[in-house]
Formats: sequence, C-alpha cells, structure tokens
Amino acid sequence: MSPFYHIPYYPAFDRMTPENAAPAFARLLAEARDAVDALERSAVPSWAGLMRPLHDACHPLYDSWGILCHMLSVMNDEAWRRVQESVQPDIVAFSLRVGQSRALYGGLKALRDADRAAPCLAPVQRRILTKAIHGAEQAGVGLPPAEQARFNAIETELARLSTAFRNNVLDATKAYALTLRAPEEAEGLPPALLAVAAQAARDAGEAGATAGNGPWKITLDIAVYLPFMMHSRNRAAREQLYRAYVTRSASGASDNSPLIEQILSLRRELARLLGYPTFADLSLSNKTAKTVEAVDTLIAQLADASRDAGRREADELLAFARANGFAEPRLQPWDITYWAERQREHQYDYSDEELSRYFLFPRVLEGLFSLAGRLFGIAITAADGETPVWHPDVRFFRVADRNGTPLACFFFDPYSRPETKSGGAWMNDFRTRDRRPDGTVQLPMALLVCNQSVPVGNAPPVMRFQEVQTLFHEFGHALQHMLTTVEEPEASGINGIEWDAVEVASQFMENWCYDRATLKGLSRHAETGAELPDALFDKIVAAKNHRAAGAMLRQLFFAATDMDLYARYPRQEWPDAERVKRLNAEKYLPSPLLPEDRALCSFSHIFGGGYAAGYYSYKWSEVLSSDAFAAFEEAGLDDEAAVRATGRRFRDTLLALGGSADPAEVFRLFRGRAPSIDALLRHSGLSAGPRRNAPPNQP
Ligand SMILES: [Zn+2]
Repeated sequence: MSPFYHIPYYPAFDRMTPENAAPAFARLLAEARDAVDALERSAVPSWAGLMRPLHDACHPLYDSWGILCHMLSVMNDEAWRRVQESVQPDIVAFSLRVGQSRALYGGLKALRDADRAAPCLAPVQRRILTKAIHGAEQAGVGLPPAEQARFNAIETELARLSTAFRNNVLDATKAYALTLRAPEEAEGLPPALLAVAAQAARDAGEAGATAGNGPWKITLDIAVYLPFMMHSRNRAAREQLYRAYVTRSASGASDNSPLIEQILSLRRELARLLGYPTFADLSLSNKTAKTVEAVDTLIAQLADASRDAGRREADELLAFARANGFAEPRLQPWDITYWAERQREHQYDYSDEELSRYFLFPRVLEGLFSLAGRLFGIAITAADGETPVWHPDVRFFRVADRNGTPLACFFFDPYSRPETKSGGAWMNDFRTRDRRPDGTVQLPMALLVCNQSVPVGNAPPVMRFQEVQTLFHEFGHALQHMLTTVEEPEASGINGIEWDAVEVASQFMENWCYDRATLKGLSRHAETGAELPDALFDKIVAAKNHRAAGAMLRQLFFAATDMDLYARYPRQEWPDAERVKRLNAEKYLPSPLLPEDRALCSFSHIFGGGYAAGYYSYKWSEVLSSDAFAAFEEAGLDDEAAVRATGRRFRDTLLALGGSADPAEVFRLFRGRAPSIDALLRHSGLSAGPRRNAPPNQP
C-alpha cells in the first residue's frame, strides 16, 4: 500500500516517492467526499455528532496533502512538482465544497443555538465553533445564489491576479542584469559575491568569466542586490541597479500597475458582498487588532517614537560619509546602504565571518535545548534512527517533561540544499495534540526546516549569527506547537491563533540571542574552543540597533500604506495608489523617495501574498514578544529562580494555550496586564514620543 494512504503517526519518509503518491490521493479524495456526503445527511448538532466527524472526514486527506507539500519543499524536483500540481485542483475543490456546504453550515448554527439555549460546549469548543461559522460565512456560504456565483468568480480571479502579480515580479527581477567587465567597476565587492557574479556570467554564456577577472553579472536577486548595494564602490552602477530595483514590474510585459487597481477593486467588492464596509474591516475581523483605528494608533505611536531618531540617524550618516570623502550635499537612495555599511564597520569593528567561528552547530543546538530546559522544564533528547527520515542530514528528537512524561517529537532538517529545498526556514505542525473519542492522545510532531550553511569538506559546521537567530525563531514556533495543553486539534499548538499574534513565541525566542549568559553558553570557538569574549558580545548588542529608527520607519511606511489602500482608498484627493504611497513616504521616511520610485509594483506581500490589510502584523507581534521578554528582564536575567518561575508561567500561558483563547487574553494571563509598546521601543533603542490621546493599552 502507498505510504501516502492513511499515513501512520510516524510517516514512512524513506518509502515515499512521487510514483506512489498519486494513487493514494485518488482513493483518499473519494473517501473524504463520501464521508462528507454522509455527514451532510446524518449530522447531529452536537460536538460528537458534527465537529468530530467533520474533522475525521477531512483529516486523512489533509494529512497526506500536508506531507506531499512537505516533500515538495524539501526534496523538490520535476516529478514531485508534477504530482503536487496534479492533486492540487482536487484539494482546492474539496475544501471549497466543504466550506460552502449549506448543510454543514446549518449544523454549525444549530449547534451554536443549542449551546446558547443550554450550554453544552467547553469554552475552547465554543471558540472553535464560532471561528468555523465565521469561516463558512467568509467563504460565502450564506450568500444568495447570484451573489455566491459572483463571490466565487471574484475569488478565482483574485487567485489568478495574485499569482500573476508574483510571477511578474519574478520575471522582471530575472529580466534585468548589469554586466561589469573592468576590475575597477567591481571594486569593493566581497569575494563570495564576485564568485556568484562570475558564475552568473558563465551561466549567461561568458565562458571565461572568473571571480578574479570578471566579467561579473549583477542581478536584482536579493542575495546579490543587497550585498552589491552594501559594498560596491561603483556609484554609477549602484544608481543604475537601484533605479532598476525600484521600478521592477512598473512597465512593459510584466507591468503590475493595472493589477494593483484590479486587486484593490475586487477586494473592495468581495468585502461589500460579505457585508463589510472595507476590505480592511474584513481582514481585521479575523485578527486580534480587530479595528483599523487600533492599527492606526499603533503605527502613530511607533512613528512618534522613531521620527526624531530617524532624522538624527540620517544626519549622522551624511556627516560620516562627508568625513570619509563623500563630496555632495546629500546622500541619494543608492548611497545610503553603502555608507550605512561603512558606518557599521567603523563603529562596531567586527565581521560576520569572524563572529561565525564562535557558533559551532552542535554546540548551538545543545545551548538552545538547555535554554528550553531551564525556561520551560523540558528535556530534549536525540533519537536518531528510531524512525525514517527524508534525507540523511535530518535529525530526530524527543521532548519530555522533567518527570519523563513524553510530550512531543520533532524532525530537524538543518542544512541548505539549494537544488531541492525551498529557501527560508519554517516549522510545519504536522501532528497536533489531539484527544480522540476513545481517550487516546496524539502527541504533537513538528517538522523543523532551516537552510543554514553547509560545512565544506572536513571543516567544522559553523553557523552565521543570523542563522543562530533563525534557528531560535523557528524553535519558538515549534515550542508553541509542542508544549500545547489544548486537546482539540483546531485550537491546539499554533492552530487557531490569529495571524497578527502567530509570531509572538518565535520572536520571543530570538531575544535570547542577545542574552549574555545564553549566547556565551552556546558559543565555543571552532579552533581555540574559547567562549565568546564579553567585548565581542557587547559589540553584537550595540550593532543590533544600528539605524533601528530608520528600519522601524520603513516598516511603518509599508504598514500605513497597506492600511490606507485597503481601508480608505479610493478618495477624491488620491488619484491612484502611487499617490497614497507618496504621501506616506513624506510622512514616515527620513529621506525622500525617488520621483520615479514604483516599489508598490513589487509589493508582493499585500498584492500577491497573505498580508493584505495585515502588514502591520509584524510590528503587532513584536510589541507582544518584546513585552513578554521584558517580563524576564524585570524578574532579573541573573536571578536563576526568577527566570525559571517566569519561564514556567510563559509555558503555562503563551505556549500551552495556543489558539484556545483570544491572544490578548492569553497575554494578559502571562503579564497580568495588557501589552505596552515600551519594551519594543527600549529594545530598539528608542523612547516613547509625545503621548497621544489614545487608549494606553493598544494594541
Ligand atoms: Zn516565524
């Protein structure tokens, strides 16, 4: 039988192939359709008669689909891609069919009414039910037939437009290249970038290109563009590249400007069909911020605290550049990244390369696990070989309580495999904690995937500091998934947590990379075995907030533009979306945009991704995670008993309760009060601006 058909708790990763995947899905889909048909005829409005059977009807299919997507993301090739593409339309159709089922929707509402008349549900069940009803309504279940047809047409068109938007950005990014031929044109570029650029030139047909002698092909791929802007001494080339970058997809075959207006207009129509005044109201109805006003207030508070510092940073950078040979009255956009990097090197005087010698991968992992043990009272042990893995580099671990009670397990796939693994890092919550009707409990299983540097030859596996932070971040997601105490799968672990609160546990863990005891504890020099010197630790901490106000203001500029476009656009005084962006640039950014800037045309987060009327979520989560970490600082990071006690409270609230309650309530349980922005400002080296007439407890 196919290892994709009714996957056992431990998937047979070693037997999964693209060939044996497809046949399993045909059977799983047929079974799921039959089970949903049967449930529509026989559902009883009770938890055991509707909610549980609905979960059970869908889950074998969704589990297998989840693992198929996982295999594609870690072992990507043509064959896996073809299977995934062949199955996807059926999965989408199945979930639409469940989401728009009037019979099931009727059952959900009958259960809600029964519970209102005579309470029969636990609070967590009530929250799941409310969200399920809300979800069905937002899937258009309650619309009259003509409107539902229009709704489905809009959804289909929006899916097509978002994909087209992203593809246009990819195409425009790929279409541009700047070839440098003379060595003086490539001055300042680091050896790694020269090697990549020479390889790109060879791939483009310049057979003789070498890292040392060129030619070098410079592209708009962010991994090339960013280091180029940081290091190139060739100002004319920086200008050319910058102009190309901020006008991607703004003209020609990959022009996104008409798509922007179509997407905004269709989302407005979609929101109105569902009874919301704007798309922002629809989006926020599923988030903890709840109202446009609450988001506006957060943005205004953070901006007030950052503006003066942002102007100061800009003045200091200009003074630094002029003292070091820059002769013009002001820095152009293509000068800023370059001079900021020179300033950082000058002020903090260490290199990323030098720092990475202190972070040996096995030692970092030990340090991370011992931190989790200290804070949350858990023990993590290697269990490699106990169950099959999908690649020889993948590790397997078990998590238990101090008293030995098993809690969870996780796989960890650490190294970059550019040929077959998707970029970035993520945590897949494959198995979630679930108490079944027969009383047995399924323990959580996480699939943790990173893309850290691969050790070359016999060299020790060292990590860049950024990679250590990424590992802590993803492990934070995994901890919230694994240490849940909720036993309803729709609300256990990270399930059911609102979009703008889902990064809290992950960003919280990142703070520990700047804790002296933690970072020194996990460091050991690859050659000398020495731990990280205090002086170097101090520089890392100081460098963390280099130009932090400018970075904050840039995020606020994007968040404010997103909110204006989805909550207040169109307006008479705003002829097009560009105008909205321009006004916000004047309001937030310390240095002006180029008149030719068309960066909205490549803003995939809000036009091609899930961040529409949600870009503020980054800052919203960061307010909560900073304030949560501040609880440890207030307790005293050197006071071991206090750190442990605060850690247990964090585990019992933020990690344990997951999506079973409103994240704002869960935060209050941990902190004893509503979140405040003060800790985020302090951690960013900023202080609160003039007080506004706003509720003090925002967000
Ligand atoms: Zn994350």
